[in-house]
Amino acid sequence: MIDVIEAWLRLAAARLSEQAPALTALDQAIGDGDHGTNMDRGFRAIVAALDAGRPEGDGELAVSGALLRTAGRTLISTVGGAAGPLYGTALMRAGGAVASADPGRDPGEILVEALEAGIAGIQALGKGAPGEKTMLDALAPAAAAGRAAVAAGDDSATVTAAMATAADAGATSTIPMLATKGRASYLGERSVGHQDPGATSSALLLRALADAASA
Ligand code: ADP
Ligand code: MG
Repeated sequence: MIDVIEAWLRLAAARLSEQAPALTALDQAIGDGDHGTNMDRGFRAIVAALDAGRPEGDGELAVSGALLRTAGRTLISTVGGAAGPLYGTALMRAGGAVASADPGRDPGEILVEALEAGIAGIQALGKGAPGEKTMLDALAPAAAAGRAAVAAGDDSATVTAAMATAADAGATSTIPMLATKGRASYLGERSVGHQDPGATSSALLLRALADAASA
């Protein structure tokens, strides 16, 4: 678990850096054009925290949880705007879920529980729901697909691949949506026809998790 988490955060940072201009372009269309630079800055800081060494902890799940919590705190302290606190809270909640998970569970199920806890954190902070053209439109279908894959007895590589595929479809599904949360909601009808930047970065994060879990 710990190696997957660390590989995920590093891979996500590399891809966010590469995709920063594309994410910023999406945010230029329906926001203020900072989503790519926000995510790149936050994940560079996460990589710097990883380079400083693994946190202490009793057992692999405890260390994995601590790593996710540190990543979440790092995002909150380095990224302003909506996405930093939302993703930061999600990572902290996910870390709590991993740290308190039953070590006898399959890693795929623990990752689904972590995503579900992260989503609950995003909803507690942002008061949003799927259908409002936000990151939740990628994350919520991903969690549902992950649950279904766990119920089908799939291994963690298959579970995370199902989550990534659902998140990609979820991100695309935001194109025709009217934004009713966040900065894009100020545009009203003019938000229709553009893919949500946060849903796009969520899909990127879950694809990176699937790739890290199958490596
Ligand atoms: P800001 O909007 O402050 O400039 P970012 O550009 O980094 O922050 O992030 C924008 C993304 O944050 C949006 O594309 C959307 O997915 C997400 N977002 C904004 N508000 C909410 C909310 N209340 N709940 C969930 N996601 C949100
Ligand atoms: Mg923005």
